[in-house]
Amino acid sequence: MIPLREHGWQSQPWQWHLSHAVRDSETLLTALRLPSSSVDTPFPVLVPWPYLAAMTPGDPDDPLLRQVLPLRDELDVVGGYVTDPLDEQTKAPIKGVLHKYEGRVLVITTAACAIHCRYCFRRHFPYDTFRINRSDWQDIVGYIRSKPDIREVILSGGDPLVANDQLLSWIAHQLASIDHVDTLRLHTRLPVVVPQRVCPELVEWISKTSLKVVVVIHANHANEMTQQVTDAAHRLTRAGATLLNQSVLLKDVNDDADNLSDLSRRLFHAGVLPYYLHLLDPVTGTHHFEVPADDGRDLLTEMSRQLPGYLVPKLVRELPGAGAKESIPLNSK
Ligand code: SF4
Repeated sequence: MIPLREHGWQSQPWQWHLSHAVRDSETLLTALRLPSSSVDTPFPVLVPWPYLAAMTPGDPDDPLLRQVLPLRDELDVVGGYVTDPLDEQTKAPIKGVLHKYEGRVLVITTAACAIHCRYCFRRHFPYDTFRINRSDWQDIVGYIRSKPDIREVILSGGDPLVANDQLLSWIAHQLASIDHVDTLRLHTRLPVVVPQRVCPELVEWISKTSLKVVVVIHANHANEMTQQVTDAAHRLTRAGATLLNQSVLLKDVNDDADNLSDLSRRLFHAGVLPYYLHLLDPVTGTHHFEVPADDGRDLLTEMSRQLPGYLVPKLVRELPGAGAKESIPLNSK
């Protein structure tokens, strides 16, 4: 095992961090000097070292640890919690594509992630049936070309930045050749959990594509915005990308207005605008993270007292079959 503070691993390339991530609770807890505990769950542990290093050793309630450590609560069967809460699997016109909203289309670029977030709404997603290769991409590009209303292509996953830059650059090139597509959006947690992923090759193709690139990172807690993450965000901005953040509201992780306000300030310092604060999607195994909508409203109302409007994210939830996310109004008191 690599000691948490050992010099050297921070400078390893991102591919090293993906292949050397922690894959069991015992290693994770030992690294944090916590007593071991393990829960057998079909969604395995996966924690990259840069993310682990942002946790506080000795703190069993660390908000980053809580996002990645399996708890027995995951095994509870709770009514209303299902494996596909957004009914996504019925919205796939061709392999790899989810076409849920008008004007934009989402491509499941890869099944892999750099981290396994215990609250993930795609933790039961049948990635095997969505796994795509280069020849599938020809069909996907053909589908997008045949739908003139599609202006924006969203690369999702898994995490699209797990794919290598040669493939991503090729995808950007293909999409840029379609007249009606002008924006490429990447939904990725990698700049937050392995900031080394924002490497010269990524910066190069982003800065060269004629598409407008939007990178939606996924930070949930102020402690995730380390100096390395801030530097990575600045590299993306300098490459010409627009950076937004979406968070999920999670019980005992970030259900605290002061912390969420601090997150917004740190994001802004990194050149990232807070965009959405999502209510948890009711996916099996995640009920212990639920924060009721009314509590979310109270938190946002308090944040809007503490922050300028441009730093207050929109509180939203996703409903199966809806044409857009539902925006939840704040309290008027
Ligand atoms: S990085 Fe995103 S897709 Fe992957 S486990 Fe976390 S929330 Fe789910």
